Amino acid sequence: MVVISVDGMGSSYYVTPPPGLRIPNLRSLMQAGSYAEAVEGVYPTVTYPSHTTLITGRRPAEHGIYTNLASREPGQHAGDWFWFAQAIKVPTLWDEAREHHLTTAAIAWPVSVGAPIDWNVPEIWDPSKPPGLDMMYLAKFMNPLVGAELLGALGLPAPGADPDTLKARLAIYLIKEHQPNLTLIHLVDLDETEHEHGPGSPQALATLAHVDNLIGQVVEAVKQAGLESSTDVFVVSDHGFLPVRRLLHPNVLLVNAGLLTADPQGHITGGKVMTVANGGSFFIYWPAKQNRQAEILSALKPLLDAGLAWAVLDQQALKELGGDPDARLAWEAPEGTAFVDSARGNLIVEQEAVTGTHGYLPFRHGLESAFLAHGPHIQAGVNLHRIPMTRIAPTILQAMGVDDPQFGDDPPLREVLVRRGRLPRAPGRVRPRRAASP
Ligand SMILES: [Zn+2]
Repeated sequence: MVVISVDGMGSSYYVTPPPGLRIPNLRSLMQAGSYAEAVEGVYPTVTYPSHTTLITGRRPAEHGIYTNLASREPGQHAGDWFWFAQAIKVPTLWDEAREHHLTTAAIAWPVSVGAPIDWNVPEIWDPSKPPGLDMMYLAKFMNPLVGAELLGALGLPAPGADPDTLKARLAIYLIKEHQPNLTLIHLVDLDETEHEHGPGSPQALATLAHVDNLIGQVVEAVKQAGLESSTDVFVVSDHGFLPVRRLLHPNVLLVNAGLLTADPQGHITGGKVMTVANGGSFFIYWPAKQNRQAEILSALKPLLDAGLAWAVLDQQALKELGGDPDARLAWEAPEGTAFVDSARGNLIVEQEAVTGTHGYLPFRHGLESAFLAHGPHIQAGVNLHRIPMTRIAPTILQAMGVDDPQFGDDPPLREVLVRRGRLPRAPGRVRPRRAASP
């Protein structure tokens, strides 16, 4: 199996490509294989919770990767993301593969540092710097034998090299050299471009065309390695995107109300509450035994008065959505607006140019993510229409020939799988589906 995640690729890019978008490889996977018109993701629709759903089939409340950011102490380790696989609380595809004596490789897959993956180039960066691909820093978190082999085979990347091109080269090398049973690849150029210029922008279309070319190179490598008759290629994504014209700084209000403290640069230094800005949503935490809801809603009232709440969700609503069990309130931004965590400056900042973000509720229009699959175990010509993201990992597992009815919240997408001799008959669901709320 080769699973390529194109970070930030909304499904509309391949379902109804805008004029001028050249994505022949994605379109050919779609036409020769099966696809979904829309995948409904998880809350918040950000990269780490979503990627963990893609490899576990479970929602954040169960898999434990609740947001990108890992810290819940105000002002402490603010730049640390959920990099470490140890934080995942349920079995992953790589755990299942190992249990069934299958080999695995992962390139920049989120939440994979320290994971039991045979050839792993995880995703982690120096928390004092912005997210990015820094091979020297990341080498400290890799198996030194794997690091030495890749360095010997491919050399050091040129300074300023395009991260996705480098990741595709690493994946192609591993597929040809080691033929892992499961290869996971995470490409991020599109997400970065959409954050900077907005979804559907000329820059985003150019980046996606480049990513499509890299996908074509990986598919070609599978053929060259003689693996075409046994390899399925899945192209998925973690979330779509919405355009942003206006930034909101709710921490400014919480500092004014004495609930947070901040330094002159606007970095949070401490407080009675904790907040996480997820772009389209804003999660607020406080200790379980305290009741601060009225105080917080009063502090944030200027946002409500300005009509800047698409919704405000309480802990029960978050529970029903399978979101962070420790968040007490979640504030959902209206279309065209995004939350940022800085506590400095004005509450509302109008931007001169359109940017983009995600993190909103997964069913909001524009957030739909991607699913395309093609290969010997995949039916041709099936349009799945709209599917929940939780069904993707069980489908990949089943295509790998592993049958584990306990894996994931939902059954595999059997309508896209070709039945084969070594797969047992479709089992009934062993674990009853949980109700959405108690
Ligand atoms: Zn993402």
